[in-house]
Amino acid sequence: MRKLDPTGLPERLSPHCVRLPLPDPFVPGVTSVFVLESPDSRHPWLLDAGADMAESTAALTAGLARLGLTPDDATGVVLSHTHLDHSGGLLRWKPARLLAHERAIAEMRNREPASSRGRAALHRMGVPPTVAEGLAPESEPVGGTPLAEVPVSDPVGGEEGPLPECEGWRWILAEGHAPGHLMLFHEADRLLLSADQFLLKWKSPLRISDPEEDSFGLYLSSLQGAIDLAPETVCSSHTVAVRPGLPFLEERRAGLLRQLGRTSEAVEAGARTAWEVVAVGERRPSDGLLILFLRERFAMLRHLAATGALARSMVDGVERFDPA
Ligand SMILES: [Zn+2]
Repeated sequence: MRKLDPTGLPERLSPHCVRLPLPDPFVPGVTSVFVLESPDSRHPWLLDAGADMAESTAALTAGLARLGLTPDDATGVVLSHTHLDHSGGLLRWKPARLLAHERAIAEMRNREPASSRGRAALHRMGVPPTVAEGLAPESEPVGGTPLAEVPVSDPVGGEEGPLPECEGWRWILAEGHAPGHLMLFHEADRLLLSADQFLLKWKSPLRISDPEEDSFGLYLSSLQGAIDLAPETVCSSHTVAVRPGLPFLEERRAGLLRQLGRTSEAVEAGARTAWEVVAVGERRPSDGLLILFLRERFAMLRHLAATGALARSMVDGVERFDPA
């Protein structure tokens, strides 16, 4: 399968969108800024700002120059979400305007963001302490403190809306991975820029840091919303574009529903925590994948509890799920 090249040239995805691939210090080593054009587009919006690293900003400037643009020509930046592979560039250069969802803004201003994969999260999933020690990384690209002072000129709220002064484009709220996560859709091009929501081959890590959030439910409904758009092209920030987009999204939904069914079966078979569901269902994968699986199964268990199929309780700081 073709991989996205962080040193690649600008790629025209559709009549109104060009992707600039940029180097990124986080896995998988590449992120993107998208140039969102409109018929009168000497001043396009950009989707995201790249990572907080000199190579990323240099690649962004070089990519824009190939299109005859400078960062100052852009109307502004639309922030897909606060994670630093998308927002870090804002710490290096200041767009004229910044559009972000109010839930993402709350995350930016949150000086104590909770981690979805630190020790505390692993404990809630029932991961034994000896295993958790080996799994919990030092840091992760969560947003929060570094962006606390970054001004937002264009806060938006609700489920979707038009991109200001950029005919043809609209933003769509798509949560589960990050609060206030936005996707961009161009109706005439039938192009969906999914940011981190739908990645080719990769699972989108689900947010589990807020125990009251049904992140799997949010993710599933954003997936249904994307399917309803019937996009011709789906393009994430870290992977190559997928065409046709609709079968890809439908397969993703079928896979998730299958996994949800297996999670429910694991509880019937006696598993009570996310750790036990993963242990029952699968061979032990690599650490990175194990955390992804744990987060996904944990979010699925919470979703089953939110829908009344399971009863959730807390035992010694571990979330326990029993048949309802
Ligand atoms: Zn990302």
